[in-house]
Amino acid sequence: MQSFPQFDPPPKKNLENSTQSLFSLSLQQLEALIERLGLERYRSRQVWHALYQQRASSLEEMTALPKSVRELLSRSGFQVGMPRIAQAFVSTDGTERYLVACADGETVETVWMPNGDDGELGDGSDAAGEEVGSITGRDSTEAAVPYRRATICISSQVGCAVNCQFCLTAKLGVKRNLTAGEIAGQVAAVLNRHQVRVGRDRINLVFMGMGEPFLNYDNFMAAVHLLVEGMGIPESRMTVSTSGILPGIERFAKENLRPKLALSLNAPNNSIRESIMPVTRKWNIEDLMAALREVPLRPRERMTFEYVLLGGVNDRLQDARELSALIERSGLPAKVNLIVWNPGPDIPYRMPKPEDVAAFQQHLIASGLPAFLRRPRGRDIYAACGQLKRTVE
Ligand code: SAH
Ligand code: SF4
Repeated sequence: MQSFPQFDPPPKKNLENSTQSLFSLSLQQLEALIERLGLERYRSRQVWHALYQQRASSLEEMTALPKSVRELLSRSGFQVGMPRIAQAFVSTDGTERYLVACADGETVETVWMPNGDDGELGDGSDAAGEEVGSITGRDSTEAAVPYRRATICISSQVGCAVNCQFCLTAKLGVKRNLTAGEIAGQVAAVLNRHQVRVGRDRINLVFMGMGEPFLNYDNFMAAVHLLVEGMGIPESRMTVSTSGILPGIERFAKENLRPKLALSLNAPNNSIRESIMPVTRKWNIEDLMAALREVPLRPRERMTFEYVLLGGVNDRLQDARELSALIERSGLPAKVNLIVWNPGPDIPYRMPKPEDVAAFQQHLIASGLPAFLRRPRGRDIYAACGQLKRTVE
């Protein structure tokens, strides 16, 4: 019998006690901790600032705090606990893939894509048109560092339980959920590596690495809060991708802090989708579309549908016709991100032919649906979509 992932949000852990990591705590949790330690209340804001704005990776680096406070935190068993980049693989196209190590030694993958992959921004209007070069019109006292527009692809779980047949991460199964600090901490570690200044440099985040964010819903949302309220990255620059976990979409629709949403549709009908994404048997396309219609969109925002093109499986012109009709029927303002399938060992699919990809995209565009082809990034280092399997060779 096929087993499906369950949607049981894990019980909220008391992160203070279980990990002793500060990087993960909300401002309220820090206030409670600072009070318990008998420190003045305003110290909690200083710690919050040092953790998420300064992105200090150790207590010693929190120089805005007096030594006595840092020592008290250390004596009480606290450390910063930001995940660490254990290994980096650099692609010829500038993409970098990292093996990020958590406190318990578990590793996940995070990807840095300078200049993005042409798909993450929604309508494509500012994705390709952004100027990339040296800074112009800035304070001349600032160093002339290159302007950065980059996308960071973040993992939400160690492995994944969803079992999509074309995805390498699925082969791992799921080992555990990441905590909010481990999710937001991937971003902090990568921003530190590239000396990014949030506010000056333009950073997009995509929750499209290992794992299914909506099967780790509470920690995913807590991470979004840390990223927005702590680190200052606007949620409109974030996109979360789900394989279609219906209860997660329903909860997401009610959030007041909400990244953009992408559904990995990957098929024009339930029968093809079931064959490549068995999770469709639990939540079918019609139910998913109905749930998506309840997600409020910002002005000019569109719902993103991701579509991995698998040669001979879902890449025919008739699939494109069925797909555009399906999306039109949904009534949703939508756009489609086409992704050419990235091969992996022991995965029984083939890449689509370039002319089929072009015809597929052309059909969608001709039928009035914005359709973008995501550039495969970092294939040579196994950093592309669906290739994240903690490969270290
Ligand atoms: N679990 C979430 C987010 C991570 S997967 C989800 O499935 O949406 C991110 C995207 O990569 C998904 O759209 C998925 O369909 C796509 N993907 C998975 N394996 C792939 C592969 N081998 N080649 C290309 N895209 C792939
Ligand atoms: Fe999990 Fe997404 Fe891969 Fe499916 S495509 S197995 S949901 S990571």
